[in-house]
Amino acid sequence: MNEIENCYFCGKPASTKDHVPSKNLLEKPYPKNLLTIPACLKCNQSFSLDEEYFLNVLTTLSESPTLIARTEPGGSVYKSRNRSTKLYERLLKSIIQKNDGRTYFHAEVARLKKTIEKNAFGLYCHKYGKIPMLNAFECVGFYPFNAEETRPIEIIMLTHNEKFKLKKWTHLQENVFSYIVVRDWRRNNQLTMIFDIHNTAWCVIKIPFPSSDKRTKRKVQGQYKLKVEGQYQLFENKQSL
Ligand SMILES: [Zn+2]
Repeated sequence: MNEIENCYFCGKPASTKDHVPSKNLLEKPYPKNLLTIPACLKCNQSFSLDEEYFLNVLTTLSESPTLIARTEPGGSVYKSRNRSTKLYERLLKSIIQKNDGRTYFHAEVARLKKTIEKNAFGLYCHKYGKIPMLNAFECVGFYPFNAEETRPIEIIMLTHNEKFKLKKWTHLQENVFSYIVVRDWRRNNQLTMIFDIHNTAWCVIKIPFPSSDKRTKRKVQGQYKLKVEGQYQLFENKQSL
């Protein structure tokens, strides 16, 4: 049967694959079997500028040699800063010296959040075999590692069990992109996804509970076939679930 794949973001026919995590957050050589979700060109492109911004912020904060290398001549971030001098100017403007003698970085939070939430959405679709609403994801924290006072002890506690053993992370690429799903006791046991990106930043995202419906997990071309929920009911009928 001819399967019509639909964009996971808007439900319209998909013509592209969107990588989760975004490919620019991973390192070459890329791991095998990169995760993707179907997306229409419009939705796919709607994230690109923010993803580029996110990577620029990350490299600004990072002490990771591979990320720093990207800001040097020939590196992808170096190229992007030369291509879009406005982006780089904006980044430089957001680095502020304050009277206390310290340097502060004021990132454009909405852009960081959009990129983080979109990546959490994509990973969730693969992990739970469901397509929730993108607006059910809310990034509630972005914590650079090298700013010691912004690495809250609560997050360290969330990622350890009661015996203070580290909980199991999923390493999509070792030391580059890992994530974990935990319950946040500070927020009503809210299901929470945490990213560790390049040992540079933690991102904390509130995610929806997968409903208790029987999951539809059938492998289709190496990917899980997803049960469609909510507003996407419309195209569920078109698929032979
Ligand atoms: Zn779309």
